[in-house]
Amino acid sequence: MSDAPPVTGDMPVAEFRREAHRVVDWVADFLARLDGLPVTSAVQPGDVRAALPRTAPEGGEPIDAVLADLDRVIVPGMTHWSHPGFHAYFCSSSSGPGILGELLAAALNPNCMTWHACPAGTELEQLTLDWLRDLLGLPDPFSGVIYDGASASSFHALAAAREAAGLEIRERGMAGRADLTPLRVYASAEAHSSIEKAVVALGLGRAGYRTIPVDGAQRLRPDALVRAIAEDRGAGVTPMAVVATVGTTGTTAIDPVADIAEICRRERVWLHVDAAYGGSAAVVPERRDGLAGWDQADSIVVNPHKWLFVPLDLSVLFTRRPEVLRRAFALVPEYLRDGYEGRVENYMDYGLPLGRRFRALKLWLVLRYFGRAGLAARVREHLRLAAELAAWVDADPHFERVAPVPLSTVCFRLRPAGVTDAVALDDVNRRLLDAVNGTREVFLTHTRLDGRFVLRLVIGGIRTEQRHVERAWALLRQEATRLSPGAKGDGDGRAGS
Ligand code: PLP
Repeated sequence: MSDAPPVTGDMPVAEFRREAHRVVDWVADFLARLDGLPVTSAVQPGDVRAALPRTAPEGGEPIDAVLADLDRVIVPGMTHWSHPGFHAYFCSSSSGPGILGELLAAALNPNCMTWHACPAGTELEQLTLDWLRDLLGLPDPFSGVIYDGASASSFHALAAAREAAGLEIRERGMAGRADLTPLRVYASAEAHSSIEKAVVALGLGRAGYRTIPVDGAQRLRPDALVRAIAEDRGAGVTPMAVVATVGTTGTTAIDPVADIAEICRRERVWLHVDAAYGGSAAVVPERRDGLAGWDQADSIVVNPHKWLFVPLDLSVLFTRRPEVLRRAFALVPEYLRDGYEGRVENYMDYGLPLGRRFRALKLWLVLRYFGRAGLAARVREHLRLAAELAAWVDADPHFERVAPVPLSTVCFRLRPAGVTDAVALDDVNRRLLDAVNGTREVFLTHTRLDGRFVLRLVIGGIRTEQRHVERAWALLRQEATRLSPGAKGDGDGRAGS
């Protein structure tokens, strides 16, 4: 049944109510059948566009028609990030309360740029980020700001670090200044590319970014950092910031943050911690020791949209020095002066974006629905499953684990008997990845470690249970057997006996 869209004004409320029920039913059905859908799509480039009209409809269409196209074109063209078999990149799975939070945020639709523009938007962001800080075991002096992703959070952190250097760059810029020495940011060779991008965007150039070698467990080497800083100072370069990573993208290595913090204090350099993925592990109180020292940072990024079941996008930058971040970005035109200045926080002062979505709402729903214990239990289970998978890999003579498992990601590769050539080993592992992903029951990605092609299996989706990890391991062993008949799997997905 369809109503002709009205000529002016919004969809009538009665129609909205009916269609919303239908859409929510569609979402509930989708969630119920997600486990049985292929996790990845079989479409080829251009297929999705070709299956849809080239221009917008002239007269408007009923929601029914849109839902039909969702089923016909969009769902089959998706990589399902909330699927329990999704083990690629880092997970970003959407939870029920998170989805409801998005619905409510779209309905309320405030622009949270200033307190006055939406008092509840600003104050709920402050409140939920205080809750989150507490949940992560971070101390009071940290206050938070929400951005879309960790790349934006780290960019703003490094902009604050540049401001903290006291070089009047905000006022005078950097070009043509004889008084300005080159600035430098340090991070491990395993740090995320968003750090180097931020350095480039801040005008330091790629020359302003120096990577520090890592140890055998892919952790930044503090001794090498000390040497690099001394060398740079000797050459007239000013160290501006150090970025430590808690959970590197390749192997989830955790840099020795306490030692790095000590160096940063001594050198008076801003310490930013990229805990985009790994920070969520701190909701499990007994695992906080693994992140020791991160609470000494000047700024920390954590992405609730990665491992805290909040739908994309929501990244949080915590900083002990919000006034410096504010100094770097606050610029208030006349039309945004509303008389509350000095009495309230205006989040527009803390970054590039002026308009800001009501992202805090979905975080609030997730924190309230699951509670501290519920979130801890889910993340704890992922950590347990990863340890179990690591044990299966270790017990299987045909596979080799290539990195420690401090969090919920296991890195490994196939080592068929008799294959020792590096190129051949890379090739068989690439084919194993393709074969396992080709089943479309699971989705894994790879990285390179010491030049070797290795597989990563991330456990972080809210729907991922023991049986899914067992199935992924069974598929890996089954496809390994096909590729190298010496690697006999029993196919039941249990520990590699
Ligand atoms: N930092 C780390 C350690 C990451 O793994 C990622 C992405 O996976 C990012 C930063 C970038 O995150 P975002 O996509 O939220 O910008």
